[in-house]
Amino acid sequence: MGTFETVNPGNQPVWVNTNNCKACDICVAVCPAGVLSMVYDDTSTLGAMISIDHPESCIGCNDCELNCPDFAIYVADRKELKEAGLGFAKLTEEAKERQAAILANNYMSLNQGDK
Ligand code: SF4
Ligand code: SF4
Repeated sequence: MGTFETVNPGNQPVWVNTNNCKACDICVAVCPAGVLSMVYDDTSTLGAMISIDHPESCIGCNDCELNCPDFAIYVADRKELKEAGLGFAKLTEEAKERQAAILANNYMSLNQGDK
């Protein structure tokens, strides 16, 4: 509905308004495809921030957007993505396994070492 934060910043399947994100982990928990995880962030009041590590695996299910209590994460419109020559992924075994690994890693990104 036109506020700046809801505009896709550049043909991304999923994106975050980091000003609104409270690092609650809910979107990480509901994503079926291992797209999202948390990273340590000293500048965030909660010490962590959401990270979109695997946008290429996003299936466009909208679960993250629908479950975010702070309206901080957005999923692209399927039609607009198609018009941009892009599309959502299909859910693969690899993506499901990555999601399981992220949950087992306390929702933290698999791309960073333990601190
Ligand atoms: S559900 Fe929303 S507020 Fe919570 S971590 Fe995800 S984007 Fe941030
Ligand atoms: S739309 Fe679905 S697959 Fe894409 S990031 Fe959100 S929860 Fe994950």
